[in-house]
Amino acid sequence: MIKIKTEEEIEILRENAILVSKTLAEVGKAIAPGVTTKRLDEIAETFIRDHGAVPGFLNYGGFPYTLCISVNDTVVHGFPSGYCLKEGDIVSVDCGTIYKGFNGDSAYTFAVGEIDPETAKLLEVTKKSLYLGAQQAVAGNRIGDIGFAIQRYCEENGFSVVRELVGHGIGKRLHESPEIPNYGRAGQGKKLHEGMVICIEPMINAGVKDIYLEDNGWDVRTADGKKSAHFEFMVAIRKGAPDILTTFEYIENK
Ligand code: MG
Ligand code: MG
Repeated sequence: MIKIKTEEEIEILRENAILVSKTLAEVGKAIAPGVTTKRLDEIAETFIRDHGAVPGFLNYGGFPYTLCISVNDTVVHGFPSGYCLKEGDIVSVDCGTIYKGFNGDSAYTFAVGEIDPETAKLLEVTKKSLYLGAQQAVAGNRIGDIGFAIQRYCEENGFSVVRELVGHGIGKRLHESPEIPNYGRAGQGKKLHEGMVICIEPMINAGVKDIYLEDNGWDVRTADGKKSAHFEFMVAIRKGAPDILTTFEYIENK
């Protein structure tokens, strides 16, 4: 069942979205060669708790950390670890919060130092596809319009779209209906209604679209070992234009 949010609930979701954005910015400041991904997780947990919220992913379905940290060929759900980031890596940081009974959820893929031009293009195209998808997230459109916009742009640029993992509704629960695939056909799927709040989260691979699950049951990696990027934000469905609750401003204007 799709839950339509009240204006008051949307504002609480926006507070969560902004706290996640600020947390990602804090993590981003610490990203550099030599830093362990476990350290990034500690920074995020401290920052979230200092702001009176709770990490949304910690213990969610048994996930044991605050952040999903997915380096290079890890697509999503990576475990923070003793791995030291190195120059040329890309690192997707996915973060959730619970504040005032609602959830926040967004993700940003950071470059560690200098990255090669093809990888830079992967990040740029994935991020732009998120905005192209969001442009379609207006009342009266259909879910397929979002995925179609993302898929078309990413494939035009020579990249591939992960099929097994998708975006979702968000509210009192982290993952609510409906699912928001990053692929699809224009004009297909459920209709979007004012007051729905969704997470759009393209997971885009430099090589093939296929993935596999690591032995720890969480880390999702590309089948060909090539890099994957992931950006995510929260959008409230309105008439005419999307209301993007998340901002990457704190990350990018540091
Ligand atoms: Mg999500
Ligand atoms: Mg997420």
